[in-house]
This record gives sequence, C-alpha cells and structure tokens, in this order.
Amino acid sequence: MRSGHVALVKRIETLAKGKKKLRLMEVCGTHTVAIFRSGIRQVLPENVELVSGPGCPVCVTNDDYIDKAIEYTREGFIVATFGDMLKVPGSRSSLAEAQAEGGDVRIVYSPLDCVRLAKENPRAKVIFLAVGFETTAPTAAATVLAAKAQGIRNLFMLSAQKLVPPALRFLLKDTSVKVDGFLLPGHVAVVIGADAFKFLADEFKIPSAVGGFEAEEILIALVSLLKQIDSGRVEVTNDYCSVVKAEGNVAAQKILAQVYEVADVSWRGMGMIPASGLRMRDEFAAFDIERVEPVAIERADKKTACHCGEVLRGLINPIECPLFGKACQPLHAIGPCMVSVEGVCAAWFKYGGNNFTW
Ligand code: SF4
Repeated sequence: MRSGHVALVKRIETLAKGKKKLRLMEVCGTHTVAIFRSGIRQVLPENVELVSGPGCPVCVTNDDYIDKAIEYTREGFIVATFGDMLKVPGSRSSLAEAQAEGGDVRIVYSPLDCVRLAKENPRAKVIFLAVGFETTAPTAAATVLAAKAQGIRNLFMLSAQKLVPPALRFLLKDTSVKVDGFLLPGHVAVVIGADAFKFLADEFKIPSAVGGFEAEEILIALVSLLKQIDSGRVEVTNDYCSVVKAEGNVAAQKILAQVYEVADVSWRGMGMIPASGLRMRDEFAAFDIERVEPVAIERADKKTACHCGEVLRGLINPIECPLFGKACQPLHAIGPCMVSVEGVCAAWFKYGGNNFTW
C-alpha cells in the first residue's frame, strides 16, 4: 500500500473512531472487484463495513430473460452476447448448455459487432442480448440507430437494460436494508451525471460519494462519506470529477432518449421496480425482438436455496449463504452472483472475503 493510501486509511480511522458500526454500500460490481483486488476491506477499521449492492447487471437479470434467449436459439436465431451471460442460470438451463445442444450463440465485445454479424449473415436473424445499466445502454442505442440508418432488417435487441437511481430509491424504501452511505458508480455517473444522485441526500439524507475505481479513488470517496457522517452535513460529493460532470454526458443521454423510454422492469432478487428500466420507443419497435417475434417460455418453478436476492440488497454477505463455496462455486454456480466476473459471490470466492474459512 502506498504512503498516500496509508494516509487516507488513517483519515478514515480517525473519522470512524467512536462511531457505531457503519455500513457503506458499494453499488457497483466493478467497485466490489476493485475493493477486493486492492485489499481495502482488510485495512478498514472494524466498525466500517463495506456491503455490496445491486450493481452487477448480469446478476440482476431475471431467469425468464435467459429462458427467452435460450428459446430464440432453439428457433434458429443467432444470439449474440457478452461472455459473462453464457453461464448465468435460467429457470431450466443456461446459454452455455443451449450452445452445447447446437444453439448458435456468439460472443461479442460490443453491440456494434452485431451490425457486422447481421451483414455477414443476411439470411439469419441476429439478436443482441442488451443487458446492462446506463453505462452500456448508449452503445446499444447507437447500434439500433446504425442498423436503422444502414437499412439492416435482421438485427434485433432482447432488452433488459436497467437504471441505477430507481434501484437505490427502492433499496432505501425497504426498511430491512440498513445503509449509512453509498459509494456511487463512477461509470454510470459519467453518463447520467453526479447530479442524478442528488435525491439520495435531498430526500433520503444518505451520505453519498461518486468514486473512481483505483484504490486511491475509492479511499478518497470513503473519506468523503466518513466526513459527511462525522459532520452531519449530507450531500452527494463528486470524487471522480476527472471524468464525471455534474450534468453527465449529454450527447449519450440524447442518444438514449432517442431510442428508449423509461419503463417498469423486474430485477432478479428484487422484483418489479417502477421506472427502473429502458424499453425501445415505438418508432424502433422493428428492432425489438419481443415485439417482432415474441416467444412463449415455460418457466420451471424450481426452488433453490440461492440467496442472491438478499446478497444484492446488502442484507447478507455471500458467506452467509449455505451454498457458498460448497454446492455453489464459479465452475458450478447455482446463482448469477457466482457467475459474473462482477458478481459479489464470485469476488468473495476469488479473493477470500474477509479472510473467511469454510
Ligand atoms: S453463493 Fe451461490 S447460491 Fe449462494 S447467493 Fe451466491 S450465487 Fe446464490
């Protein structure tokens, strides 16, 4: 740990001294992994606990979405997706299993790759699994605009794009969720702006800080949270101002608003959250596979002991799930939080949590 980091940790210790147990939620999965990788958890004072939130897009995608994607492979579509969706369990199986059974599942690194894929396969229908938050949604919107401009008619989106602020509002209205401050996702704030989170301070009086992803940036944001708690002066600080503006990326917001409208959507583990997702506007309905060729799925109503819902709301840590490290491990995951590289259970497994044993 560098001397600058040591000074920041000492500042956190001083500010936290004598306080009750403080639960600070890092909202996004990238922060969760960065915190583990840098060893920040181990150097914080005992009364400062970091809990993970619902900011891993793969983890909050419902199993019936996976079921639909699998059904489209059975109907002969090419399904294009980011790699971490492959092993996410649906209600019956996963895209990896569908691929093993002969389904045409392609890994892409950007939704824009799908424009090329659709052109190279003019007789096929290509579906991109548009899963993500405000960070990736503008690129999906730009892909739809590019396809429309180029007259491409065989590219579609299966949309499960979600918005972070409504999920935080939902968490704060849940009385079982105990959070003393939010470390806010820097890359979401790049798009929507730090001001989009002002309601956390204004309405809910929750200390909040937008943070970057390097160890020093995370520690600076944690100092901001502790200072707010210490002084009682609650606000949303922008501690990632090298890239985050108060108003965000206005050009990206315009592209998003051109293609999408806000909709009520369901989150895995949390259920329906009002105005927490994106739906393509009617003028782009020709690119929305669920409106062009909807599929019927028969959802298996299986009961598992997976506790992803509680993990994603910060109610429990992964090691409190009875399956953690036993029946559920990255190579044979039961829930999505163990599959995604940004999943909190996968991070606890890989980095050893708080030096736990099992
Ligand atoms: S350890 Fe596995 S089963 Fe338990 S909550 Fe995490 S993903 Fe679900």
